[in-house]
Amino acid sequence: MEATYEFEKKYRDQILRCSSCGFCQAVCPIFGLTLRPAMNTRGKMLLLKELMDGSLEPSAEIADIFYTCTACKACTYTCPAGVEGNEIVEEVRKRLYKDGLAPESLTGVRDSIFKQGNVFASAQDERIEIYPPVLREKVRKGELKSHAETLLFMGCLPSYMDMKIVPSFIKSLDAAGVDYTTLATEETCCGFPLYLMGSDEFEPQARRLIEKMRATGARELVTPCAGCYKTFTTLYPEIGDLGLNVYHSVQYFDRLINEGRIELKGELSGKITYHDPCDLGRSCKIFEEPRNILKRVPGVEFVEMEKNRLDARCCGGGGGMQAYNPEMAVDMAALRVRDALDVGAELIVSGCPACKDNLRKGARAIPKEERGKIKIMDITEVVINAAG
Ligand code: SF4
Ligand code: SF4
Repeated sequence: MEATYEFEKKYRDQILRCSSCGFCQAVCPIFGLTLRPAMNTRGKMLLLKELMDGSLEPSAEIADIFYTCTACKACTYTCPAGVEGNEIVEEVRKRLYKDGLAPESLTGVRDSIFKQGNVFASAQDERIEIYPPVLREKVRKGELKSHAETLLFMGCLPSYMDMKIVPSFIKSLDAAGVDYTTLATEETCCGFPLYLMGSDEFEPQARRLIEKMRATGARELVTPCAGCYKTFTTLYPEIGDLGLNVYHSVQYFDRLINEGRIELKGELSGKITYHDPCDLGRSCKIFEEPRNILKRVPGVEFVEMEKNRLDARCCGGGGGMQAYNPEMAVDMAALRVRDALDVGAELIVSGCPACKDNLRKGARAIPKEERGKIKIMDITEVVINAAG
């Protein structure tokens, strides 16, 4: 039979190396929820062996299996045979996309990005509506700096769907006296959703944005979005030189606090825990900075969930799952909220707008008598609340 799917040697070797030991099964959030063996990396590798030797053909059912993955990387860190499950899923999605088998819910997101430059198909002019009034007015009057030391990149979700992250982020940087500019209404999606669905439009999207960023002459970029951070630091270098240092807000705030430019005086109380976003934690190994910040907020007791850092449970919000299978994403988030309830946390903090959004939905899916008054916040909100 003819081989239907071919892979570069690195991935082909990994697929063939999978010994079906099943270690990946124990950590896969999708398997944990569905209990479907085809859904974990072991099952996916078995299917790929058949797709490679031609005994199986790509289909909508196969596409469903490969798009049902949060790209959380938990399998990759667990596999004793060195199978990089999430990367192989991403490779398979590129082929499925080319074969026209990408799910409509995801190609709908692609169309929104093509039409309006953002995942929600919202008007590009509305991107600055969430800015603090002074900055918004500057943009409207054409007085925003075209060049600055620091470029702030908000991301689609904080710009259009979250009321608090962008104002908290900007006000904290104002308090620290940071010299910044933004792309304002010229900011577009970083392209990560295109990459995750396997679209070859990711590269041109990235190139256009790189050009705009370089034009600001900034020396550094800061973003409160874990997905954008991962995209800029791990995917863009393959495409072009951004010409600046990229920081996530947790790294940047940790530095500003250490330099005494932001003082945490306290405004919060109770037990607080941190949820590691997969795109920041397992993908970029940023674990300590957010914890350093939270432990310095006077009046709070920091508690660690049992599954943390490299072992953190995925909240279910990544990999395109919020668009592809929102119900499953929320069910996974509810499990993560229960992890926090188990250690008595009253507040879950994250450094990812998608995690915040999904965890909030997950909390609401838990009966009120069980979830109590648990709250979910982004770290930018904690910083501005504590800095006063
Ligand atoms: S842990 Fe690795 S070798 Fe074992 S079944 Fe999973 S992918 Fe295969
Ligand atoms: S990346 Fe995460 S969700 Fe996807 S197969 Fe691996 S463990 Fe499961």
